[in-house]
Amino acid sequence: MTSSMQVSEKTNYYLALEEQYGAHNYHPLPVVLEKGEGVFLWDVDGKKYYDFLSGYSAVNQGHCHPEIVDVFIEQSKKLTLTSRAFHSDQLGEYAKFITAYFGYDKVLPMNTGVEAVETAIKLCRKWAYEVKGIKEGQSKIIVCEGNFHGRTTTVISFSSDPAAKKNFGPYTPGFITIPYNDLPALEAALQDNTVAGFLVEPIQGEAGVFVPDDGYLSAAKELCSQAGVLFIGDEIQTGLCRTGRMLCCDHEEVRADILILGKALSGGMLPVSAVLADDEIMMTIKPGEHGSTYGGNPLACKVAMKALEVLKTGDLAQNASRLGRLFREELGKIGSKHISIIRGKGLLNAIVINHPNPDAAWDLCLTLAHNGMLAKPTHGDKIRFAPPLVINEEQIMDCVGIIQKSLRVLD
Ligand code: PLP
Repeated sequence: MTSSMQVSEKTNYYLALEEQYGAHNYHPLPVVLEKGEGVFLWDVDGKKYYDFLSGYSAVNQGHCHPEIVDVFIEQSKKLTLTSRAFHSDQLGEYAKFITAYFGYDKVLPMNTGVEAVETAIKLCRKWAYEVKGIKEGQSKIIVCEGNFHGRTTTVISFSSDPAAKKNFGPYTPGFITIPYNDLPALEAALQDNTVAGFLVEPIQGEAGVFVPDDGYLSAAKELCSQAGVLFIGDEIQTGLCRTGRMLCCDHEEVRADILILGKALSGGMLPVSAVLADDEIMMTIKPGEHGSTYGGNPLACKVAMKALEVLKTGDLAQNASRLGRLFREELGKIGSKHISIIRGKGLLNAIVINHPNPDAAWDLCLTLAHNGMLAKPTHGDKIRFAPPLVINEEQIMDCVGIIQKSLRVLD
C-alpha cells in the first residue's frame, strides 16, 4: 500500500511551485490538471480522469459546458463589472429570472458561498430586530453540530471542527449548536424566544454526506414556523439538482424562508452566490447596509442564467436521481469488507472506509487516481463521490468497476 504516488517531472514542477509559493492551506492529491470537459479532466501529462468531486459540486453542469462558455465569452467582451454604484442591463433581468425560477420575491447577489451565508445571517438578524422585535444585540441562530458553511471568522465561530477553529478566535457570539437530525433538540432550542433563525444543510456534505432521516426537514420547518423562526436552507452544495431534485429541500416540499445558493450557480465559471427571500425579510436591508463590489456583476448574472437554464434543459435532476440510485446499488453489490457504509442522495454520495490504517481512504484515492478517477477523502475515513450530473449510465458502471478494482489496494 502507498501513501504517496509516483509523479512525472512535469507534475513535480507544478507541485513544487505551489509548495514553495502558495500557502499550505490545502492538502490536494498530487495531480495537476490542465483541461476539463463534461465529466472528464486531463492532467499535464495527458492522463484522463473521471471527476468524482466536481469542484465540491460547483460543476454540476459538467466542465466547460459549451453553452455556458459561449455566454461567458460573449458577455466578457461586452461588460463584466459596473459595481453596484450603477445599474447594468443584466442585473434586473437576472433578478427577475432567478426569483421566478425559485419562487421568491427578491434576490441578493454575492460571490462565494460563505459570503451568501454571511448575508443570510445578517438578514436574519436584521429581521429579528426590525420585524420580530427581539432586543438589539440579543438574537440567536441555531446551527447543527458537524456543519460546514464556509471559512469566514463568523462562520467558523459556530463550526464544531477543531481544525477550522483553532487559533482563529475570538469568535462571533449569537449561535446555539444542537445535534444534526435531532428534532427534540431543535424543539427545545426553539423555546428560547431570542432565537431568530435555524441555519441548516439539508444534507451535511462536507461532514461526509450525512443524510438526515426522512421527514426531518419538513418537521424542522414546521417547528420553526410555529416558533416564528426563519428556516435558513444552505443549499450551496445540495442544491441545483445535485441530490436528484432542483433543491434538496424539494424532496420534502420544504420552502426555506431564506435560501442560500452558490457553487453550481455559475457551473464552475466564476464565484456566483445568491440569497433568496421574500420582501418581509429582504426589505429590512437598506442602501449602504450590505453589499459587494463584484456581487451581481453583469458577467455573473448572464452566466448564472445560463447555468440555471442548463440544469433544466439537461434534465439534470432526473439524471442525478436515477444514476445516483444505480451507483449506490452497484457499489453495494461489490460487497467490499473495506466499505462500512454507503450513503447519499442523487449524485451526492459517500462511502465510509473500514480499515485499521488511518490513511486507507487517502491511499484508496491515490489508487483511484492511478486508475483514472478523482475523488478526495473528507474527515479521514470518508470518500465523497459526486460526479458532474451530465454523467451517463455507461460511465457510472465504468466508475463502479474502477472503484472495485482500486479497493484491492486495501486487501
Ligand atoms: N455552505 C456549504 C454547505 C458548503 O458546502 C460550502 C462549501 O463547500 C460553503 C457553504 C462555502 O462555500 P465557499 O467555499 O464558496 O465559500
